[in-house]
Amino acid sequence: MSVDWGRLTPTLRAGDWTCPDHGRIRPTSSGPVPTCPHCDVVAHQVRVTRDGHREFVAPVPARCAGAERHPLTAGRYQLSWTPCPCPPPHTHRGHHTWTCHCGAATHHPPVVDPWRGAVAVPVAEAARRR
Ligand SMILES: [Zn+2]
Ligand SMILES: [Zn+2]
Ligand SMILES: [Zn+2]
Repeated sequence: MSVDWGRLTPTLRAGDWTCPDHGRIRPTSSGPVPTCPHCDVVAHQVRVTRDGHREFVAPVPARCAGAERHPLTAGRYQLSWTPCPCPPPHTHRGHHTWTCHCGAATHHPPVVDPWRGAVAVPVAEAARRR
């Protein structure tokens, strides 16, 4: 992602939501995490450290996509970026993937299964089915 945070940063305050392409935004919260209303990328929240530096914090889905729907616990999941395995015309730039310690993966945007429509199938699984 490329954004001129240097130009934007001085005007940001703690708690603001941002998009790499659209700067400060009012996020949409219909999905598992807040997203940009213009381009649907995952919004990042601004946090200001004690020494005045601004950091961009990626949001985390409240719940695991696994059968138990248990809360995602800090340190017990991994965030990664996976190439889009979806069939055209549902292609995306890629998917944010939160892989839980239980093995379930939550994606944003949801991975499109060619047979079932938009469902949260693990990316590896969707890629195998092609
Ligand atoms: Zn955007
Ligand atoms: Zn996709
Ligand atoms: Zn889980």
